[in-house]
Amino acid sequence: MKVLSKAKPETGIWMEEADIPKPGHNDLLIQVKKTAICGTDIHIYNWDEWSQKTVPTPMVIGHEFSGVIVEVGSEVEGYKVGDRVSAEGHITCGYCRNCKAGKRHLCRNTEGIGVNRTGCFAEYIAVPAVNAFSIPSSISDETASIMDPLGNATHTALSFDLVGEDVLITGAGPIGIMAVAIARHAGARHVVITDVNDYRLDLAKRMGATRAVNVSKENGSIFDAMAELDMSEGFDVGLEMSGNPHAFRDMLEALNFGGNIALLGIQPPETSIDWSQIIFKGLKLKGIYGREMFETWYKMTSMLQSGLDVSPVITHRFGVDDFQKGFDVMRSGESGKVILEW
Ligand code: NAD
Ligand code: ZN
Repeated sequence: MKVLSKAKPETGIWMEEADIPKPGHNDLLIQVKKTAICGTDIHIYNWDEWSQKTVPTPMVIGHEFSGVIVEVGSEVEGYKVGDRVSAEGHITCGYCRNCKAGKRHLCRNTEGIGVNRTGCFAEYIAVPAVNAFSIPSSISDETASIMDPLGNATHTALSFDLVGEDVLITGAGPIGIMAVAIARHAGARHVVITDVNDYRLDLAKRMGATRAVNVSKENGSIFDAMAELDMSEGFDVGLEMSGNPHAFRDMLEALNFGGNIALLGIQPPETSIDWSQIIFKGLKLKGIYGREMFETWYKMTSMLQSGLDVSPVITHRFGVDDFQKGFDVMRSGESGKVILEW
C-alpha cells in the first residue's frame, strides 16, 4: 500500500510502499478514504526541535482521517465490515488512575497516531476498536476526516458556558476558525477573533465572527473592537488558539473580572505574563489537551447534525499523489484545512 512516511530525519515527507497492517484481536482495519493535514504534520515535515525529540524515523505520519472498516478483530464487538468511521488519535493506556476513572483524555501514557505510532497517511490503518468512532450517514467523509481538530475546537470552546457571553478567540488557524462557528452555534453574543493573517481572518468572518482583527496592523486592536461593540467591561470567555505570547497577554488584559480562559495553543516555556491580571481579576485558566473520550465526539456530532457548518474551513483538496502541493499550501499559511484523498 501507499504511505506518506517521515523516512529520514530531515525536512520533507516521502511517498513509499508498505505492507498492509495486520489488525490485532482488539483492532479494526480501516481503509482510509480522506485525510487532513494538521499543524503537527507540518512540524514533522519541517523537522523542528519538537519533532526531532518526539518522532522516531521512519514513521508513517498523519492522524486526521475517515474511512471504512474492512476487517474486524476477533474480540471486537459493535462494529462490522463496511461501517464508516473516524478515530480518536490518542491511544491511552487503560491502567493509569485517569483511564481507570474514565478520564482517558488525561492519560499520562498517551501515544499519538502518526507521532509515536504508525499513522493514517496510508491506504490502510489498524487502530484499537475502542478508539474508533462511527460516523452517522448525515456527516460526509470529508467532515469526518477533520473531527480530530474540530474536537480540539469543541473541547476548548465548550469548556465554559457561552450562552449570551462575549468570546475572544486568539489565533485564526483552522482550530480557531472552527471555534468561531461553535461559539456562534452555542449561543455566544459577540465572537471576536485575532490573527496576523488576513486570509485566515476572512475565513473566520465567513464562519460568523463579529469582528476579525489583524493585530499586526496599526488599526488592529482588540480594545478598539471592544469599544465599537460597546463592551466596556471586557470579554467573558477567552479561547487561546495561537500559542503566541503577545496574544495571550492581550487576552488576559481584555478579559472581564471573573472571566474564564481555555488554553489550547502551546505557549513557549519562557512566556511571561502580568500575574496581577489573573489574581486581581480572579480569572480561571484551563489547559486543554486533545478531546474528551468520547464526550467531545458525541457533542461535535450532535452539533454537526443540528446545523453547525464548518465546511468553509476546508479550502484545498488534492489526490494523495499530489501530497507535496498539499504540504506546500499548508506551509504557506494561505489555507484552512487541506484534504488528501486516498
Ligand atoms: P495554527 O498554527 O494553524 O494557528 C495558529 C494561528 O495563530 C495562525 O493562524 C497564526 O497566524 C496565529 N497567530 C500568530 N501570532 C498571533 C498573534 N500575535 N495574535 C493572534 N494570532 C496569532 O494552529 P491550529 O492547528 O489552528 O492550532 C491552534 C493552536 O493549538 C496551535 O498553537 C497548536 O499547536 C495548538 N494545538 C494544541 C492541541 C492540544 O491538544 N493542546 C491540539 C492541536 C493544536
Ligand atoms: Zn492511562
